[in-house]
Amino acid sequence: MVTERVQEKRQFGHRARLALTPAQVRLVDAQAHTARTTWNLLHDWWTMVPKGKHTLALADAAIRQARKDIDWLAALPAQAAQAVLKTYFQAWKNCWEGRAEAPNFKARFRSVMSVDVPQGRDLHIKRVHRRWGMVNIPKVGRVRFRWTKDLSIGKTADTDNKITGARLVKDTLGWHIAFRVQTLDTAPDPHTGPQVGIDAGVTIPLALSDGNHRDHGRPARLPNGTADRDKWLNPDEKARLLRLEQRAAHQRSFRKQGQKTSNRLKRTYDQIASLRATAKRRASDWQHQTTTELTRTYGVIVVEDLDIPNMVKSARGTVENPGKNVAQKSGLNRSISQEAWGRTVTMLTYKAARHGGTLHKVPAPGTSQRCSMCGFTTPGSRESQAVFVCKNKDCGWSDNADHNAARNVLHLYRMGHTLSPAAGRAVVRRPLGVKPATAR
Ligand SMILES: [Zn+2]
Repeated sequence: MVTERVQEKRQFGHRARLALTPAQVRLVDAQAHTARTTWNLLHDWWTMVPKGKHTLALADAAIRQARKDIDWLAALPAQAAQAVLKTYFQAWKNCWEGRAEAPNFKARFRSVMSVDVPQGRDLHIKRVHRRWGMVNIPKVGRVRFRWTKDLSIGKTADTDNKITGARLVKDTLGWHIAFRVQTLDTAPDPHTGPQVGIDAGVTIPLALSDGNHRDHGRPARLPNGTADRDKWLNPDEKARLLRLEQRAAHQRSFRKQGQKTSNRLKRTYDQIASLRATAKRRASDWQHQTTTELTRTYGVIVVEDLDIPNMVKSARGTVENPGKNVAQKSGLNRSISQEAWGRTVTMLTYKAARHGGTLHKVPAPGTSQRCSMCGFTTPGSRESQAVFVCKNKDCGWSDNADHNAARNVLHLYRMGHTLSPAAGRAVVRRPLGVKPATAR
């Protein structure tokens, strides 16, 4: 008997670097600035018109009128302007449904430069070389991009496997294109690998319940005990960052209040940003490699549900009644060394699903204070950040504190204390009527 394999729809982004000429860079920059202006005009319009007139049709008419009145708004293709409108309405929807703050004006230097190409058929993607593809960018023309993944284009594309659109995004390495890819794959076989609990440790980045660990060899703390914020940079890069920060401070000291940022200071800021971006790429590269390997090896992955922003906020208290010992209470010391835990969990969630495995979250409190041997829980059992010694007289077991916590995480899962079976998304949805955590 032949069993029908289940087909699974999947949507994901694929990011590739664009090779633009300086003239093309100026064109795309102009588009991005116009997209931001369109957003700001839209927000202006929204705050001015009475509440009953906040409709998509009226907003669309306002945008069309603005594009007629202000000629340089035409630098942005009409489709991209429509995409701005769509994103703006979605931002309000996210706000009303409690997922985000209310949309606001976008500042020139604080917002990410981006342009939408909402329709895949405008892209005309073609592979021209083993390592290069060509893509059409409206009002810019044909542009090369790095071909690092086989995309469904031309004859290989169909209604289920295709590119539905793209978004141009600028970072410190320049302009990138993020394709929206849609595929229909056969669902993976259920993963038969072992179960594992993972703890975001203090001494080890990721401690596993089976005694293994995943480390990147870059300690979270400096020899003097303070957190190393730039651990992903090499010693010479750290020295350069320090020099640049000193230079920026020096250049800032000459600036009078209300004066524009000088070009020299801007260049120093750019150099600092590019070093920080290098560090971030190294960190996320390690996270990608590690989470891929973990989801290939283990069928069931259990993690603590750590809500770091809320941990910090609840300990911080309110303006009228500020909290004491904020760092200790919120576990901030711990969260510093937690290696962008939220992003690790997001990666584990979708990668586990792709490999037929599952990811589960268990409540965090107590996992670091319980003895995984006898189940005895006392705050004093954690001797130091690194060593766990059980205070139960009949037990007295001792081990690395992070491995102990990882075993407790797995124990909680086996006892059925799972919070929620994580489905494809790692978005925390607040119930309606609950204020966002930052609103005070
Ligand atoms: Zn014990």
